[in-house]
Amino acid sequence: MTSLADLPIRDDLRGQTPYGAPQKPVRIALNVNENTHPVPAEVIAHVTQAVERELRSINRYPDREFTALRKHLADYLGGGVTPAQVWAANGSNEVIQHILQAFGGPGRSVLGFPPTYSMHSIIASGTGTRWIAADRDDGYRITEATAVAAIDRHDPDLVFLCAPNNPTGTPLGLDVIEAVHDASRGIVMVDEAYAEFMPEGEPSALSLLEGRPRLVVSRTMSKAFAFAGGRLGYLAADPAVIDALRLVRLPYHLSALTQAAAVAALQHAPAMLATVGAIREQRDRLVVELARLGYDPHESWANFVLFGGVADPRGVFEYLLAHDILIRDLSIPNHLRVTAGTEAETTEFLEVLGRMGR
Ligand code: PMP
Repeated sequence: MTSLADLPIRDDLRGQTPYGAPQKPVRIALNVNENTHPVPAEVIAHVTQAVERELRSINRYPDREFTALRKHLADYLGGGVTPAQVWAANGSNEVIQHILQAFGGPGRSVLGFPPTYSMHSIIASGTGTRWIAADRDDGYRITEATAVAAIDRHDPDLVFLCAPNNPTGTPLGLDVIEAVHDASRGIVMVDEAYAEFMPEGEPSALSLLEGRPRLVVSRTMSKAFAFAGGRLGYLAADPAVIDALRLVRLPYHLSALTQAAAVAALQHAPAMLATVGAIREQRDRLVVELARLGYDPHESWANFVLFGGVADPRGVFEYLLAHDILIRDLSIPNHLRVTAGTEAETTEFLEVLGRMGR
């Protein structure tokens, strides 16, 4: 049998492991930070209609510039963001890949702050961009001084920030983002996949875009927006950045069905986001209840909680799995991460964990 090592694969990919969040058929999946609430029936009906209409011209290539979708995304973001500032792709993973294809690549580097979203370094590797891991401060925070010192030391071509950070949930102040931008010479990308879960009224890095053409803010419809299966991620940046991304995207990368489904879903933004408040409540409940059970949950502004004090993460993971509950073991010593689900899912997770004892 042929193994990977027998193939003439790129040397820099030898020995690498692919992204591998387990996909298992369980009753309660709290492992990849989806919105676990059912999609409203009226949205399903409208998306179905929109997709059906699109099928009449499915013999033709789709709008390469996804014009209608860019307009709806700009409207959704608000704050004066224009369609010319918006880019989209099949999930924000592909958006991030476009950024690295255009601004990274062989001979270039991207600096990030682990523990952070694992795909940042995996996409760096796939595009031949050198990944530089910088340290965080206590409690997974990043202070201005720490961030600026890492940039001064490594002089990266890009800096990736994640706000709130996955897998820790840690918030990141706009002052730190500004300082990172001012200290660096390259593209600064703020991954705001979980922005909608931040406390009401907290500003997004979108408010920093004006006058900062090297700043990029990425978002996704996969989390709060309850559209992970639709595969739609996007970003906002200076129109010149969007021109750079046109150089690396494949023509017609967003299918006509994806565009139609996403536009229809965006027209129901309030309904799709109606569960965000309830999810925030379950997240805050998880922090309180996990502490009551004797664990060390970290502050989270996202829809998940990372908790420490787990003597045997693998054992707890397997115990929950045996009870049809899937959470995430990210190989951070003594830690596990759980997504805030519906009230019933959260209750069952806490009850099973409580029954296990520590
Ligand atoms: N960024 C962060 C921080 C994430 O956690 C995720 C999904 N886990 C993504 C980006 C990618 O999401 P998608 O490709 O579904 O938009």
